[in-house]
Amino acid sequence: MSKRSIYNVAILGSGESGMGAVRLAVKQGLSVFLSDGGAIAEEKKIELAALSVAFEEGGHTLDTLCVCVEVIKSPGIPTTAAVILGVREAGVPVISEIEFASRYTTAKIVGITGSNGKTTTTLLTTHLLRHAGIDVQSAGNVGNSFSELVMEHSPAVIVLELSSFQLDDIVTFQPDIAVLLNVTPDHLDRYQYDMARYAAAKYRLFENMTDEGLVIANTDDALVVQGLTQVSSRIQPVSLQERVYGGAYFDMDHLIFDTEKDIEIIPADELPLIGKHNHYNQMMAVLVAIEMGVPFGDLLGGLRTFVNAPHRLEKVATVEGVTFINDSKATNVDAVYYALDAMESSVIWIAGGVNKGNDYKQISDLVKDKVKGLVCMGKDNVHLTDEFSEVAAVTEVQSASEAVARAFDMARAGDTVLLSPACASFDLFKNYEDRGDQFKAAVLQLKEVQSKRIKA
Ligand code: ADP
Repeated sequence: MSKRSIYNVAILGSGESGMGAVRLAVKQGLSVFLSDGGAIAEEKKIELAALSVAFEEGGHTLDTLCVCVEVIKSPGIPTTAAVILGVREAGVPVISEIEFASRYTTAKIVGITGSNGKTTTTLLTTHLLRHAGIDVQSAGNVGNSFSELVMEHSPAVIVLELSSFQLDDIVTFQPDIAVLLNVTPDHLDRYQYDMARYAAAKYRLFENMTDEGLVIANTDDALVVQGLTQVSSRIQPVSLQERVYGGAYFDMDHLIFDTEKDIEIIPADELPLIGKHNHYNQMMAVLVAIEMGVPFGDLLGGLRTFVNAPHRLEKVATVEGVTFINDSKATNVDAVYYALDAMESSVIWIAGGVNKGNDYKQISDLVKDKVKGLVCMGKDNVHLTDEFSEVAAVTEVQSASEAVARAFDMARAGDTVLLSPACASFDLFKNYEDRGDQFKAAVLQLKEVQSKRIKA
C-alpha cells in the first residue's frame, strides 16, 4: 500500500458483484471502503458494519476514493461516469470485479461472452461438465458473482458468464477457454452508439490469452471473425452456414464435431433446445466439454437432461390448441429473429417495452411470413406500430394479462402466442423476470378459466 493510501480497495456499488468483492476482500485481509451512488439496502448496511467495512451512500466522495490503492467498479457503472473519470485522473487504477476475483483462484476458467446466448451456454456447459463428474460451478453474470464463488469454494473448473461491462475493466484476467457467441447490437447506449466500441469490449476476452489457450467462436458472425484477428490462441470455429475444420458445424440434420481429437455427430432431433441459435449454443458447450476430455457418450446424456433457465423460449401451456411461449429475455432484435425463426406455426407476437434504438429490418421478412397478429405491450409503441403497420391485426396493451387475453382472441387452434419483446422491460415491469412471470401467470389463469368453462 502506498503511504498516502487509507484503504486497500474502494468498491463502487453495493449490488451482487460489489458485495461479493467486499466479502472476498475482507476475507483476504484487505481494508475496504464501499461507495454507492444510490441507497444501500438496510440488510447490506448491517453486514458491512459486521465486517467493519466503512461505507457511504447517495454519492461518491472523490477525496476518499483517490486515497485507495485501487478501485473495483461494478458493471452497472459506465466507464464514462464522473466518478470513474475522477478516480482515473487521480492515477488510481480501476478494475472490474472479474479482474479482482481472478487473483484468488487457480481454477481452470471458461469465459463465455456474446450479445445473446451467454446464460444458456454457461448453464449448459456447466451441466455437461458436471454430468461427466467434473467439479464445476458457474458464476459471473449468472448466479453468484465470481468473487462470492471464489471465496466460498474454488472448484476445479469455473464457467464464467461475462457481459461486455464486466470485460471493460479487466487487466490481466485470462480464461483458459474463451467462447465468443456473437456480436450483435445491444447496450449501445453504454458505448457511444458505436458498434466498434461495443465489439472491442467483447474482444477483450482474448487480450491476455496465450498460444496455450483455446478460443471457440461463431465464424458466421462478421464481427466475431474480425475479433479473431487479434487471437494468438488455438481457434475452433463454429458455423451453421458452412463446413468447418477443427471445430463444429451443422449440416441441416446433424451437429458435427470435427475436432483435432475425433469426428462425432449428434442428430439435431435429439437436442433438447429448439431454434438455430441453440445449435450455436449447444455446439459451443459441447466443444468446451470435448476439450476438457469429457467422453462423447457422457455428452449425449448431459444434453438430454439439460433444462434451460426460464424466460428463454420457455413453453408455458397450450390452451385450446394455442401454444404460449415465454421468451421475455429476448430484449434485442437478434434474439427475436431466432425466436420467430424457430416457430413452426402462425404467430401472435407480443412485443414492446423500452426501445434501445431497435432496427427491425433484420426481422421484417420473418414477421411478414409468420406473424398474423401483433400485441404491442409498452408505454410507447410507436416504433412497433410504425414499423409493422402491415401486420393483419395490431393492438396495444399496458399489462401482461391484457396482452394474453388479446393474443388469445386473435389466435386460432394451432397458432403460437410468442412473448419475445425485443425491448427492455422497465416501463411496465421490474425486470424481464417479472415480465415473464406475469405473462406465465396470466396464461395459467387463462388455462384454468377455459378449462372450467369447457367443463361447465
Ligand atoms: P444472454 O445471457 O446473453 O442474454 P440468454 O441465454 O439469456 O442470453 O438468452 C437471451 C435471449 O436470446 C433469449 O431470448 C434467447 O432465446 C436468445 N438467444 C439465446 N442464444 C442465442 C444465440 N446464440 N443467438 C441469438 N439469440 C440467442
